[in-house]
Amino acid sequence: MSEENTKTIIETETAAPSPKKKKRIESNWITKSICLIVALALAAVAGKSFYDQRHFKETVVSAPGLTEIKYLSDYVPALKGTYGDTPIFVYDSGVEGGSVLYCGGTHPYEPATSLSAYIMMENIEVTKGKVYIMPQANYSGTTLGIMGNAYPKDFDIETEWGKATYKIGDRTSNPLDQWPDNFTYIHYPSKQSQAYNDLRNLNRCFPGRLDGTFTERVAYAIMELIRNENIDMAIDSHEASIMYPVVGVYVAHNDAMDIAMMAAMDLTSTTFDMKIEQSPGSLKGFSHREWGDYSDTLAVLMETPEPFIDRIVGPMTRDLMLTGQDLFLSFAGKKGLTYVPYELETGWPMEVRVGRHLSSAERLIYYMNMFFPEKEVQATWPGYNELVEKGCGAFLHNPEEADPELVFKV
Ligand SMILES: [Zn+2]
Repeated sequence: MSEENTKTIIETETAAPSPKKKKRIESNWITKSICLIVALALAAVAGKSFYDQRHFKETVVSAPGLTEIKYLSDYVPALKGTYGDTPIFVYDSGVEGGSVLYCGGTHPYEPATSLSAYIMMENIEVTKGKVYIMPQANYSGTTLGIMGNAYPKDFDIETEWGKATYKIGDRTSNPLDQWPDNFTYIHYPSKQSQAYNDLRNLNRCFPGRLDGTFTERVAYAIMELIRNENIDMAIDSHEASIMYPVVGVYVAHNDAMDIAMMAAMDLTSTTFDMKIEQSPGSLKGFSHREWGDYSDTLAVLMETPEPFIDRIVGPMTRDLMLTGQDLFLSFAGKKGLTYVPYELETGWPMEVRVGRHLSSAERLIYYMNMFFPEKEVQATWPGYNELVEKGCGAFLHNPEEADPELVFKV
């Protein structure tokens, strides 16, 4: 290459851009800056929403019979200060008898479960034995929604004194508390291979273990609660999509089958249709299986219909959560594809679902008392008919007017 040619190339490379090119570069910079600002603004809005969901606390006004508050960290101290710790409210009549544990929020995207626990707490009266109520069993799961599912983070219940707000969480523990997920999930201690996405599902992690994952530790703490407090009957409340066969049903451990069978027949003949299934021995990790196998408790799981989590519904709105009314689902209902009756006009409203749980728990205790008089528990709270007639709000108390010692943030 001649010296002249080299000079020409260097001059061309170092020459200033033409005015047209300069303008284009400037305009690119402006476009990129605007995109960055918009992205940051969207991230800030989304971030605030995630932060709020992670830190929002639900309010409950306990009935005066509250005698003690325990935490899962009392049984597994490693949970202290983590999102796995959650309160258990104890109502001890002082009269010797049996003990019952009622759990809500094992799957926090099934909020009629925790709401039924709160309504139980707000109105309970125990005259024999003890009742333990854990409104948010998987607290971590209440701190986010399902990733990829666009739905509201909460819903309101109208009351005479204003609105009470409750969260709609995830099915599983928050990845901020347990991550990364393995590609496989081997259940402990059965060694059964399960779906990998059930690694963070509390109701696949029982009986859990101390040195396991975050969710296994929470599961282990619940087992320890049941064992240490000699819980005679443990009730795990859930909600299910109505195109899934296990809905509107008790699933009972073999030891609790007689009780659940009687309760199901009683409810079906007097109040609402309730099915009964026996927990399959080979289905591992579930409360209805492992609670009964790894402790002396009588374990029963209950499912109410929750159209909100059906796959085929339209927009997942607060309204859908509260009414259960969805046009798409009604087409499935007409074709007989749902496992409980479904009409657009009636849907499955929150008060019906909460009322089902409250009466279903009450009937289980009633028949436990009949089969095992030595485990007798006498406790009252509002039932299905009252909930359907008056709505959920009628049974929630105004925290502003209540005794501050009975107002709790969960
Ligand atoms: Zn569930």
